[in-house]
Amino acid sequence: MPILEFYCPNCDEVFEELVRSSQKKSSIACPTCKNKQVSRQVSVFSARGASAEKAASVPSACGRCGDPNGPCAS
Ligand SMILES: [Zn+2]
Repeated sequence: MPILEFYCPNCDEVFEELVRSSQKKSSIACPTCKNKQVSRQVSVFSARGASAEKAASVPSACGRCGDPNGPCAS
């Protein structure tokens, strides 16, 4: 199961959330203020570069953006 990073503009804080494939993204809320207007953090993961090789070996992950849910359509 992928652990995704989200950013809460209310707290100005990044938190990690374990997301099940069946879980709707709209159900994700900030653990601190319960704000649901959180944005997905994608660039942080790839910017670190530490997991780049590991991510590339996962066939189901998107090679462009590192999305563990699968390749981007466009
Ligand atoms: Zn918050």
